[in-house]
Amino acid sequence: MPRIFSGIQPSGELHIGNYLGAVKNWVALQRKYESFFCIVDYHAITLPYEPADLRQRTRDMAISLIAAGIDPSACTLFVQSMVPEHTELAWIFNTVTPLGELERQTQFKEKSGRQESIAAGLLNYPVLQAADILLYKADLVPVGEDQVQHLELSREIARRWNARFAPEGSPYFPEPKPLLAPTRRIMGLDGQAKMSKSLGNTIGLLEDPKDVWEKLRPAVTDPKRVRRTDPGTPEICNIYHLHQAFSPAATVEHVAVQCRTAGWGCIDCKKVLFESMEAELRPIRERAAEVRAHENELDEILAAGAARARSIAAETLREVKHMMGLT
Ligand code: SF4
Repeated sequence: MPRIFSGIQPSGELHIGNYLGAVKNWVALQRKYESFFCIVDYHAITLPYEPADLRQRTRDMAISLIAAGIDPSACTLFVQSMVPEHTELAWIFNTVTPLGELERQTQFKEKSGRQESIAAGLLNYPVLQAADILLYKADLVPVGEDQVQHLELSREIARRWNARFAPEGSPYFPEPKPLLAPTRRIMGLDGQAKMSKSLGNTIGLLEDPKDVWEKLRPAVTDPKRVRRTDPGTPEICNIYHLHQAFSPAATVEHVAVQCRTAGWGCIDCKKVLFESMEAELRPIRERAAEVRAHENELDEILAAGAARARSIAAETLREVKHMMGLT
């Protein structure tokens, strides 16, 4: 079975943008590939944070992932800082990564522009990401389009390390390929930017239905549809894109016709979307409540995931150190 690796930041409970853009795809892939899914808490500490919050957000993310359908008996689900080989390999990769490559990374430029003082960890973030993937010699990495540049750097690091230390003609690290997520980028409720917790334009995966409706009701739609009698253009409306993600095909078709002919108003349209979302999100909320009620079992799941990940990571590191002349 080809192996996949993917990581997610411990941002607390998932929102529907993470769910539709990444996690739903992981759930579909987890039995087709030997899958490693990692909550990347070492990445989270490259920006300012509160220690107590981070611990809780890491647990909340694990609960969300399991509730969304990640099955720890079908894949390896673990927390990055429980497998110290990640940072050890990242240090090794730092010695073969050119500084210029790191400074050119788009995400570094975006994030560093918002900071008064820039930690070296923010610059070296993609090196740790390369270590995350290559520790497990993953063949494929499920990513969104905005992460392809980082993955290209991981491939470059694998090439450089192989050229320097692996026997000629026999590369040690595979060059991981992107496995692009089938779902389009999910925009926030403001219809302006990608759904993101920091922009406050999200709907939480586990949010109370009353709060979901309170957020959905004023959400931005086709800006040209000012009056109830104006025909709309569903393709430019974020609510229509959410219908495509949550509603059955026949409903999506009905929505498009009603919108184009001004057959209904946007609130009618949102009520139907709310019902479709509830059908998918209710069982997820129920599973999350079950996992939360048995937190000891969650500890066991994460410990077992880390032990399984470490058994592979330690072997990779042993071989790497041997090839590099380290003791
Ligand atoms: Fe968007 Fe639906 Fe309103 Fe059309 S009717 S603009 S799809 S919310």
